[in-house]
Amino acid sequence: MIWKGARAERALRRVRDRPELPLTTFDPSEVVEQMRIERVPEVTAPVPCFMGDISPLACILYDDQGSGTVLIHSLLNDPQTPLAVMKLIATHELLHLVARPEIIEGKRVSHPPAFRELENARCPEKREAWQWIRDELGWYLSIDRESESTYVRRGWREIPRRVQA
Ligand SMILES: [Zn+2]
Repeated sequence: MIWKGARAERALRRVRDRPELPLTTFDPSEVVEQMRIERVPEVTAPVPCFMGDISPLACILYDDQGSGTVLIHSLLNDPQTPLAVMKLIATHELLHLVARPEIIEGKRVSHPPAFRELENARCPEKREAWQWIRDELGWYLSIDRESESTYVRRGWREIPRRVQA
């Protein structure tokens, strides 16, 4: 999702000043860079990526000059997070720099059909990744269909992780 406004700017500063070290089996910053080069070459400069306790599950902030920053929620900073999920998120957020929001029937749409077409074409793991997100993280999330956004519930740290079989 595209995150804008004062709250997003505050979160960006907070997370950038105190970035979390990755507990994942991959470095999210490297995945973002790899996806930019392999899948979203329209974005010509590296896009920084930080993990922290934010409100969206993942988001991109960008300014009018087009330079963006990807933020990933701490909930995904976990050794169980599959690489496929990170690839999907990285590609999705980068594509926001390519397929910008459109006004459709008077409403600003962050994921217009042009965005979804690119995402479907460039994210072969989309279905598998969303299945994992729903199965493993579903009870941490609130999905706002109106704004097409996925948020992590407050108090998520208190919700126990599902015990792995
Ligand atoms: Zn989005």
